[in-house]
Amino acid sequence: MRMKPEIMSPAGHWPQLKAAIEAGADSVYFGLTHFSARAKVGFTLEELPEALSTLHKRGVKGYVTFNTLVFDRELEAAAKTIEAIATAGADAIIVQDLGICSLAKQIAPDLEIHGSTQMSITNADGVRLAQRLGATRVNLARELSLDEIAKIRQETDCELEIFVHGALCVAYSGQCFSSEAWGGRSANRGQCAQACRLPYELIVDNHAEPLADARYPLSPGDLYTLEWIPKLLPLGISSLKIEGRYKDAEYVALTTAAYRKAVDGVFDVTGQERIQLEQVYSRGLGPFFLSGVNHQKVVEGRGPRHRGVLMGRVLETLPESIRIEPNANHSLAPLKPGDGVVFDAADWRSPQEKEEGGRIYTVRSLKPNVLELGFANNALDWRRIRKGDLLWRSSDTEVDKLAKRFTEATQPVYRRPVDVVVKAVVGQPFEMQWSRGANTALVAAGTPLEAAARQGLTLDSLRDQLSRLGATAYTLGTLEATIEGNPFVPVSLLNQLRRQAVDLLDQMTGAPRSKPTSPWSKPANEPNPTTAGEPQLHVLVRSARQLDAAIAAAPDSITLDYLDLYGLWPSLEKLKASGIAPRVASPRVLKPGEDKIADFLSKLSCALLVRSAGLLDRLKQRPNLTGDFSLNAANAITAQMLLEMGLERLTPTHDLNASQIEALARQTDPGRIEVVAYQHLPVFHTEHCVFCRFLSKGTSYLDCGRPCEDHEISLQDEQGRRHPVVADVGCRNTVFGAQAQHAAAHIEAWLRAGIRHFRLEFVHENEEQVRQICAAFQAVLTGRKKPSDLQRLLSHCAPEGLTEGSLFVPKAEPVFRIL
Ligand code: SF4
Ligand code: SF4
Repeated sequence: MRMKPEIMSPAGHWPQLKAAIEAGADSVYFGLTHFSARAKVGFTLEELPEALSTLHKRGVKGYVTFNTLVFDRELEAAAKTIEAIATAGADAIIVQDLGICSLAKQIAPDLEIHGSTQMSITNADGVRLAQRLGATRVNLARELSLDEIAKIRQETDCELEIFVHGALCVAYSGQCFSSEAWGGRSANRGQCAQACRLPYELIVDNHAEPLADARYPLSPGDLYTLEWIPKLLPLGISSLKIEGRYKDAEYVALTTAAYRKAVDGVFDVTGQERIQLEQVYSRGLGPFFLSGVNHQKVVEGRGPRHRGVLMGRVLETLPESIRIEPNANHSLAPLKPGDGVVFDAADWRSPQEKEEGGRIYTVRSLKPNVLELGFANNALDWRRIRKGDLLWRSSDTEVDKLAKRFTEATQPVYRRPVDVVVKAVVGQPFEMQWSRGANTALVAAGTPLEAAARQGLTLDSLRDQLSRLGATAYTLGTLEATIEGNPFVPVSLLNQLRRQAVDLLDQMTGAPRSKPTSPWSKPANEPNPTTAGEPQLHVLVRSARQLDAAIAAAPDSITLDYLDLYGLWPSLEKLKASGIAPRVASPRVLKPGEDKIADFLSKLSCALLVRSAGLLDRLKQRPNLTGDFSLNAANAITAQMLLEMGLERLTPTHDLNASQIEALARQTDPGRIEVVAYQHLPVFHTEHCVFCRFLSKGTSYLDCGRPCEDHEISLQDEQGRRHPVVADVGCRNTVFGAQAQHAAAHIEAWLRAGIRHFRLEFVHENEEQVRQICAAFQAVLTGRKKPSDLQRLLSHCAPEGLTEGSLFVPKAEPVFRIL
């Protein structure tokens, strides 16, 4: 029989942790106040042992998130934190940084490692790489479909975990640099600035394209999969995870309880459960990528905030009330006095304006399809509400009451099942074995059983007595009994042994689970520099027109990063004929079914720029590989591991500023570090195709008409900056920063550090811009111009302006105070 997957719930802090326990979570994940992808919440190290023992006492596992990239200066603090997590008895640590996997293995070999969704794992190659680094479980990317998950399950033997509910990122987790680019913060460091939830205008071939009510073209809905649980159960997924460490206890309680019931098969999902989950938090629910690619569905784009439940549409506004046409949700959970509502006018009001909303005072049914809603005096500005506006219920007192059952519990609400095996044989002592997870309590009577004069022990009478678990944290699960010789077992004995078994189980589940640790000390810095030599210029182009200009500039290598891999042949031939070293860039994401792309790349005779860790694992025997920024090397341990996997060179993650890049180069091998000296930062890398969603009615490449091949698009933000959008071979889109990011202020320091490989990356630049930018960098790298001249030289080629962007070095780096 296949095991049920565990339900894993989020906890920002104590109220959520307690709600998850009462609502039936099998495990709870939470972060500390540092090294966690949700920097604004979490437990302190002092609170950690109590948090874990609170969970363990109720038979719930505790996983600690350690899912940020870690900088070199933080490695000692990271090592101490890992030690503390293991000592406190965590059941696993959830990790993004490859170097932290290795560190955790050295410090606490018995502490399980789970690969975070921040590792951007999308295929079996990625899972195997994580396993090799010590992970026993991997959380797959949220962009995978049910069939793709099933394929990965068949191809690997690692425990797999998927998200089943909660917020989606528009970008692949671990691949979003928008906060880094625009806010000097980093999503890979737990400081997402939510740039995907901002309004943007669509610019197509330099003209604004009206988006009607879709003012938020990068803001996805929230994942919801209750109806998909019966299809997920047979797959053999180990854990179903609920997103939401920033959400409140009510959200944790109701989502956990709903998925608990669905996994236990307690209900056939009805509209009621959906409405409750929609009510507690939602920006529009759906299975999204789990049900396969449909670019029309992921982003509805009307709004970026919690909306609740869509209840109808405004028919008319009267002096003191509003008439609406209710929808089907009203028959499932009717509107009533006390409900909070909001009027959504996304199709005619600007995104910056406040929405009208308030609490309903009266509800009158006029006709089957007309409701009249009354509000308190002056609660609404009636002039700002129009016929046709959507009406959402944003809060519901009934749903609040449902959540209170879990959030304000004084007795155990969800009682975890115990499995009992009984031996009742005349002439032998009565014995019971009570099991909960890995814990088993054995209890027995001191004297042999006698035969009953009349009716002896039966399975039914046994079940009746053992089910009396009252206010304990348990409920009777399976019961197996060997009953021979019509034994007489006094009820008092059954009760006494039942209480003993419960006490023993309590002691076992609440016992500390510390893992042994070995202290870690930072290895001595033993860089092994390759011969320095002259600086080399590498140019990355995204079109045949850019290629011609790049060839004319004669850099040391040119990388082709094309939408159509197969269509790059003529360019590759031309490049080879020019005598300039060719290189081809891989996609950042490869899913099951995209093996042809990996095969194509592996057969190319030229160098490769590898952007996916799974692909690196597959190609690692091959020469001429450079690992790109998307491998997220943020410290010397990770960089060294990646270089040792067969890379010739490595580009550090864009989470490092210029001086951190310099330090990383000094600590590894500066001759094998390739820096990006000019680029538009790739801010979002997303499965959601903006071209398909807004320039076609199609759902995928099969019926979209391929607008990506005929149009250049960008997204214009509220400051008027136009961020280019480019599609890749797998139809994934990259949104690039509008401003050109350059390293003029840092080139001298990088050269002094021994860095010799400098890359320029182009997005929408025309031939003249490519020519001028290449010439400017060549002049600087050959000493004909000073780096201080670069800014002036580049300013002519950057209509959206220049920026230091992610390379900016703040005056004072934040200091971690840990232990
Ligand atoms: S896509 Fe980026 S900006 Fe949006 S929520 Fe995710 S990490 Fe934050
Ligand atoms: S073919 Fe182009 S427009 Fe169509 S889904 Fe793919 S990337 Fe998007």
